[in-house]
Amino acid sequence: MSTDEVKDTLGAMGSDPSYVWMSGELVAWDDAVVHASTLGWSAISMVFEGIRGYWNSEEEQLNIFHLDLHLERLLRSMKVMRMTSPWSVAELKRTIVDLVQANEFRDDIYIQPLAYFGGSTTPGYLPVSERPGDITIFNRQIGSVLGSGQITSCGVSSWTRISDNVMPPRVKAIANYQNSRYVADESSRHGYDFGIILNPQGKVSEISYACLYIVRDGVAITPPVSAGILESITRDVVRHLFQDELGVQVVERDIDRTELYIADEVFICGTGAELQAVGSIDGYQIGNGGMGPLVSQLEQLFHDIVRGKDSRYPEWRSGVY
Ligand code: PMP
Repeated sequence: MSTDEVKDTLGAMGSDPSYVWMSGELVAWDDAVVHASTLGWSAISMVFEGIRGYWNSEEEQLNIFHLDLHLERLLRSMKVMRMTSPWSVAELKRTIVDLVQANEFRDDIYIQPLAYFGGSTTPGYLPVSERPGDITIFNRQIGSVLGSGQITSCGVSSWTRISDNVMPPRVKAIANYQNSRYVADESSRHGYDFGIILNPQGKVSEISYACLYIVRDGVAITPPVSAGILESITRDVVRHLFQDELGVQVVERDIDRTELYIADEVFICGTGAELQAVGSIDGYQIGNGGMGPLVSQLEQLFHDIVRGKDSRYPEWRSGVY
């Protein structure tokens, strides 16, 4: 797959779904509107999630991957914003399954819950005592690059990663994505698929929209949660599969920039990005420039598990239909 094909695949939106869920109600797509005065300040404290569902054509079932973990993270992000949730994880989970069913998707999908302070009376920038947020949930079709053999190129960005005492990266806040956006803009202007962001200490943090692993001498290494990363669900899944299925040791520690250049394998991981091998960084070839042996085994396993072709880990999938 060429880079442009990958971007088309991941960005393919499909047709508009029939319904959106807005704070307790299933609303027709065209009626899912908010008042113009909500724009602006509500976005400053808005938090969200990105969740994937994989269609299994043999079983005619859509498998939503790690729905509970994503919803638990959403509620943690809300907590830091001093936003309470009128709905529990179990209620939101039921809602998402019902929404996906109502939209009758029989394809790979992306689900995006957004939580924000709605209404126009209290500007979102004022210090707030804890109060309930509104939640809106969309879903749409999305492609998958798993199994495509996709190899990406990366460049180390000149932008620095936001840090916990500035804009906490473990909170999945819309506002944090301006940092990712600067990085993505720069890397694409320089001809790379993704930008790698260093934290204020000069250590590797993550990719604009994903986490990163390197492999050195058979050991998989990923930056710790204190390196300015989003506490990624896919990163944890990778650690689990490496350790428990492939017998690969995983170490969480700081990674220096030049370790990237001399690593045997490098790959990125995340819900949207899935798993993609990195073939070069700043023009240095990584390994043989293709998909290394460990990432190739991992990708196959991950692909089969998320889609439910491999029946292990049923608790990781919420089946719809
Ligand atoms: N970091 C950032 C900045 C991201 O946007 C994402 C995608 N959600 C990730 C890491 C990967 O997180 P996850 O595996 O939970 O999707």
